[in-house]
Amino acid sequence: MKMKLCGVGCGRLGTLVGLGRNGAATLALPGCLLYTRTGSAPHLTHDTLQEVGGVPAVAQFTLPTMAELHEVLEEYKEGAAKFIGMPDTVLYCSLLDPVAPCPSGYNTNKTVSLWGASGRMELTTSKFMDIQRAIQPDWFQCISDGDTISGEVSRKRAKKSVDRSLSFLDVCLQLLEKSPELQGSVMFGAIEGGDVLEERLRSARETAKRPVGGFLLDGFQGSAMAKETKLKLIASVTAELPEDKPRIIHGIGKPDEVLECIERGVDIFESFFPFQVTERGCALVFSYDCHSDPEAAVLKQNGAQDTEKNGAEDQDEISKADPEMTPFEIFLKDKRYQDDFGPLLEGCTCYCCQRHTRAYVHHLLVTNELLAGVLLMMHNFQHYFSFFNAIQDALRDNKLDQLKKLVFRQALQGPANAKPGQ
Ligand SMILES: [Zn+2]
Repeated sequence: MKMKLCGVGCGRLGTLVGLGRNGAATLALPGCLLYTRTGSAPHLTHDTLQEVGGVPAVAQFTLPTMAELHEVLEEYKEGAAKFIGMPDTVLYCSLLDPVAPCPSGYNTNKTVSLWGASGRMELTTSKFMDIQRAIQPDWFQCISDGDTISGEVSRKRAKKSVDRSLSFLDVCLQLLEKSPELQGSVMFGAIEGGDVLEERLRSARETAKRPVGGFLLDGFQGSAMAKETKLKLIASVTAELPEDKPRIIHGIGKPDEVLECIERGVDIFESFFPFQVTERGCALVFSYDCHSDPEAAVLKQNGAQDTEKNGAEDQDEISKADPEMTPFEIFLKDKRYQDDFGPLLEGCTCYCCQRHTRAYVHHLLVTNELLAGVLLMMHNFQHYFSFFNAIQDALRDNKLDQLKKLVFRQALQGPANAKPGQ
């Protein structure tokens, strides 16, 4: 794996080349990973995934799902990529599923706890590396103590998270060197330290001294940490890291937050956000075309007519929208879409928007048809992946500020179908 950077101004534009077992895959930066749980994209078969434009070359899957298959994979011997029928996909194995909650308070100096379908798993470094040997991922996150996201973490606990993670890293690096099965694998060192700046810096400096393939900025998931603190820490941490290795962040997915992290030197994100949007029956409709007139683009895409239609009779339906809903999406289960014959998003080239209407997807959602999730996932993934292309273009054309203004304006507008007055 090699990193080619074309620019490191207000965001790192570049490409990761030589990825995967045959070294043929590339990932444009800033970029995102394909979110999966067990190696396949949620709601989609391999065939339907082929219909989605711009699917990233690297798929993320999570350790708990694979750890439960450990013995089977050990016996299979050919690694998880082949086992799940995706032999050519570049796989990144992360410790946690960004969408699943992880109970706090179980990590020790020797073990990290993960939760799978059959409950809690306690992993030591040697058990962790045994599982990785069976999985044979292209990239994997080193086991670390990232249990600092509750917002009530003391300085002592933050220090402990760094000490433990560094000691796990040292043991795993030694085991990695001795594992023939993992010779083609790249290990990412996790940077921990909660919200304590000195600990974050120590974690970054110490991790950077070790022969890791890249860095994971961990512990920024959730909303317990104030946004200003988070951004300040991210900027301080990336400033300590070498330029020539990629930086992944976990738990950041909203378009405005992604842009803020890119400005602070983050390269790679997950794509759990479009999955969450799909799960709440919503479609991403935010605009990222900063080459057109921003005002007009926002009105056109976020639906000026939606606000007009926001009548009193719709209130019951509206109140069923997920409180987590963001201003970047519309709630298609809402009654107002039952006779809306436009595509989910005007101008979108995805499979769903080319063939179906908002009214049809509304119908599928209210009748609980599985196809609703399939079509929404196809649209939401494609829209989100294209957003990263727009970011790369904006960096190339020196227009990141314009893109930021456009996205931030939409973030402030409030959901197109919120109750009047909210
Ligand atoms: Zn679409």
